[in-house]
Amino acid sequence: EEWRDRGAAVGARQETDSNGQVQTRVVKKGVKDFNFGRTLGEGSYSTVLAATDRQNQKEYAIKVLDKRHIIKEKKVKYVNIERDTLNRLTEHPGIVRLYYTFQDERSLYFVLDLASGGELLGVLKKLGSFDIECTQFYGAQILDSVAYMHSRGVIHRDLKPENVLLDRNMHTKITDFGTAKILPDPAASGSGLDVVPGSPTDGADNDRANSFVGTAEYVSPELLNRSNACKASDLWAFGCIIYQLIAGRPPFKAANEYLTFQKILSLQYTFPDGFPPAARDLVERLLVLDPAHRLPIEHIKNHEFFDGIQWGKNLWRNPPPHLK
Ligand code: ATP
Repeated sequence: EEWRDRGAAVGARQETDSNGQVQTRVVKKGVKDFNFGRTLGEGSYSTVLAATDRQNQKEYAIKVLDKRHIIKEKKVKYVNIERDTLNRLTEHPGIVRLYYTFQDERSLYFVLDLASGGELLGVLKKLGSFDIECTQFYGAQILDSVAYMHSRGVIHRDLKPENVLLDRNMHTKITDFGTAKILPDPAASGSGLDVVPGSPTDGADNDRANSFVGTAEYVSPELLNRSNACKASDLWAFGCIIYQLIAGRPPFKAANEYLTFQKILSLQYTFPDGFPPAARDLVERLLVLDPAHRLPIEHIKNHEFFDGIQWGKNLWRNPPPHLK
């Protein structure tokens, strides 16, 4: 499949040709424009490196994907999904922004926001669990980002604390859109008619059904039942995340994936002692088997659990509460 680069024209350079004429050339960002630094992490098909733009010293994270490996493992489709969804989601502080893409003979490069605070999961593991104030704040930032992506016609389908990164201000940035779904008509995406039927010819959905490794805990019942993804599937995962931040573990967890799926499908989970009532009420309204009956985003924002949260721009201007 053809690879289309993002941000091709980034500047103009004046050059004098052999006839003494001044020519203006469009300059495209490439590998040579960055100083590569430390490795931030490794994925199955990628390495993420810290890098600085030589021109203005701006810092980025550059995801380097090995072309041969991606083609061999038949992941071209997912790489394209990631690029296409990120290209739609460039106007929100809570989503890792894609600035440029380019390639050389061996690799594809994604120039992304640097999230120097690592994964939310790492912070959670270190602390064990979050208090109410932190859960409220981080929950609110995640929800605001999900609301934005849904308004742009994107379903993430793999929300979990590993896919929520933190920037230098400890604000959240959602990442990993390789298994996202772009809804056919973003203009109609607010209508609630946003179910994406899983079709037997849609390789992405079939592959996905077999690729729940490490993510079984957040899979919604509708995905297990009919292989349908809808916006509310992300809200199921959001409910799992709120539960996990407070309890320190996801609500549905068993010895293996099969048993985890059984628990999800029978809504078999319990709240630990001392789980705050407002949070419990919210989680109970999200972990609802029928996606049509899950609390919609606007109602979640108005739920008592989020009392005192300032939605909108202030959510991203204010510093986070102290993590303890
Ligand atoms: P897999 O492909 O196996 O599912 P992955 O999705 O985590 O793994 P990558 O997206 O390549 O793979 O990320 C690899 C690691 O790099 C991640 O664990 C993450 O912690 C880190 N990372 C990814 N993006 C950024 C970023 N923008 N800023 C800082 N670190 C990042």
